[in-house]
Amino acid sequence: MRRWLFGWVFGLGLFCLLWQGGAPMMWAMGDAPLAGRRIAIDAGHGGIDSGAEYHAHVEKDINLVLAKCIGDKLASAGAEVVYTRMDDVDYYTRGKGGKRADLKKRVAIIEEARPDVFVSVHCNASKVTSYQGAQVFYHPKNEESKRLAEMMQKRLADFPKGNHRQAQSNTHVLLLSSLSMSGVLLEAGYLSNGEEARLLCDTAYQNRLAEAVLATFLEYFGEKSE
Ligand SMILES: [Zn+2]
Repeated sequence: MRRWLFGWVFGLGLFCLLWQGGAPMMWAMGDAPLAGRRIAIDAGHGGIDSGAEYHAHVEKDINLVLAKCIGDKLASAGAEVVYTRMDDVDYYTRGKGGKRADLKKRVAIIEEARPDVFVSVHCNASKVTSYQGAQVFYHPKNEESKRLAEMMQKRLADFPKGNHRQAQSNTHVLLLSSLSMSGVLLEAGYLSNGEEARLLCDTAYQNRLAEAVLATFLEYFGEKSE
């Protein structure tokens, strides 16, 4: 009985490894489609900065889980993944300008890593609790960022179902305006919407969302010549 149980558990574990979320996500050595690509992932907020908080859901925690989930998928496709944070930490300095210092530190970490692209992961919130849908933002100074944002937005049409949001230009986000390489800010969904907040905390939904981000990068780098 014990041996049977061990075999079953081991087999299930192997199955999960080879079959993640409905699609096989493993490539033969040297075949990895994102090999040689470096991607920076910024999990928004952290530490003393919780970000949005609704329905007992805390943005900084969801951002981190999503960031790691996305990072795992990208790494499994051969990308080198760089994170601005892997834990519940912040880079605030004391006194005035603490938030700015935090963002500047994230910019410095990413610039130093010299990635091909970056993605900053956040969750949205609004007083209008019916608002919903993942949305991608980019800085208009970079054409490639716009291309990446539009590609990602297209793949987020099902997050949640019927999401009609469009990729949007934004010149006010310090991270987007400061970084020298292409990249986007992903607002994964609205925590102020009870149903979407529940989805954003659901492992299967997070997994599917991370796969949509992976598919975006596969398409983005697949079309890029150099
Ligand atoms: Zn945020």
